Amino acid sequence: MGMLSPDFYYSSVTAIDLAVLRQAGVRHLLIDLDNTLMPRDSSEVPPEVRTWVNALPDTGMNACLVSNNWHAHVASVADGIGLPIVTRALKPFPPAFRKGLRVLGGTSDTTAVVGDQIFTDVLGGNLLGMMTVLVLPQSTSDLPHTLLLRRAERRVLAGREPLA
Ligand SMILES: [Mg+2]
Repeated sequence: MGMLSPDFYYSSVTAIDLAVLRQAGVRHLLIDLDNTLMPRDSSEVPPEVRTWVNALPDTGMNACLVSNNWHAHVASVADGIGLPIVTRALKPFPPAFRKGLRVLGGTSDTTAVVGDQIFTDVLGGNLLGMMTVLVLPQSTSDLPHTLLLRRAERRVLAGREPLA
């Protein structure tokens, strides 16, 4: 299960211990949007997440969104929180992650993928040898095929609980 196993698992992005990531050499974050930074059934990034994003530079990290979403509104959401975005990413396949690395000036050694899905975010990050951080989905709303994968995710996680 190595490729499907996240290095870290937290309840939400705001619970991530960025100091621990920095100690592990992480300077760049490739962050999923839907159900990671905001609930899938919303188009608003919650205020506490906005605050977390704004504080990233203070911790010496920069970030780029990498989203499988095809809809035009995701670009304006990214704009609203001041982050670059790679859309139509086709995660877990590597090209969009590589594009995100170029945007941030990072390498796989210095970059972590943050997302709510094992078969897109965690697998994609692990395929490129990046550190991976899983967060709990921020809503129960998901695309139909994602809902099917959630059951498989529960099996992969085998009772593993978020660190915080
Ligand atoms: Mg997601």
